[in-house]
Amino acid sequence: NQIVSFQQVDKIYNTGTVALSGLDLSINEGEFISFLGPSGCGKSTALRMVAGLGEATRGKVEVFGETPKEVIKNSNDIAFVFQDANLLPWRTVLDNVMLPLELRNSNKKSQKETALRVLEMVGLKDHVKSYPRQLSGGMRMRVSIARALAAKPKMLLMDEPFAALDEMTRQTLQNELLEIWKKENTTILFVTHNVYEAVFLSTKIAVMSARPGRLSSIIDVNLPYP
Ligand code: ADP
Ligand code: ADP
Repeated sequence: NQIVSFQQVDKIYNTGTVALSGLDLSINEGEFISFLGPSGCGKSTALRMVAGLGEATRGKVEVFGETPKEVIKNSNDIAFVFQDANLLPWRTVLDNVMLPLELRNSNKKSQKETALRVLEMVGLKDHVKSYPRQLSGGMRMRVSIARALAAKPKMLLMDEPFAALDEMTRQTLQNELLEIWKKENTTILFVTHNVYEAVFLSTKIAVMSARPGRLSSIIDVNLPYP
């Protein structure tokens, strides 16, 4: 069941930089796909396009059979997690996670229940009243992941989410993310320049080449998960 497709996508920024060149790729529901490649090869550009942030210069990107912009406008099907957790410093952990829910018309009580559920999932139940500055980097990233999950997205887009964390914390969060992916039955698009991370996490790896934005291969990873 294909949910994302890049069809002969070129992206040339107005500076003249060719970020993507003839990208052809389809992504199926339930997959954990990593975009892997050296810095500057166009990984973020590709991911951002799926979120409707930037349009193709040539070719097209479809998500759930629509343009990304339509999907973003009409649903909460896509959530984005960035490298820095992007939390609002004046809001508590709970209120940060409730933010995307407040933008919808549900009642306060169910918003809070949802937020607490996802915070428990990322192991932060005891920190709901803390402020971001009181948390470690790993904990802030957990809040960011919880906030993304709160709106029950069909697809989670993650751009080097663990790059700024120390090795131990990164491994912990990688394992937690795999648990979440299995439990929530979501599709994850993950950008990394770390080969080990891509191999450990993914069901599929789109390897990109530094020669402007080309896909050099697609690797199916058969991991011994249940
Ligand atoms: P990656 O995520 O693989 O590091 P990016 O998609 O961020 O690569 O960038 C691909 C290329 O496009 C790089 O050369 C980068 O400098 C350039 N680029 C990225 N964003 C912009 C932008 N907004 N304007 C101009 N050039 C950009
Ligand atoms: P993580 O694995 O999320 O990066 P750490 O290993 O840095 O977390 O922190 C371990 C424990 O120390 C956390 O569960 C938290 O209770 C506490 N802690 C870490 N940083 C802070 C901080 N800046 N303020 C208060 N407590 C903290």
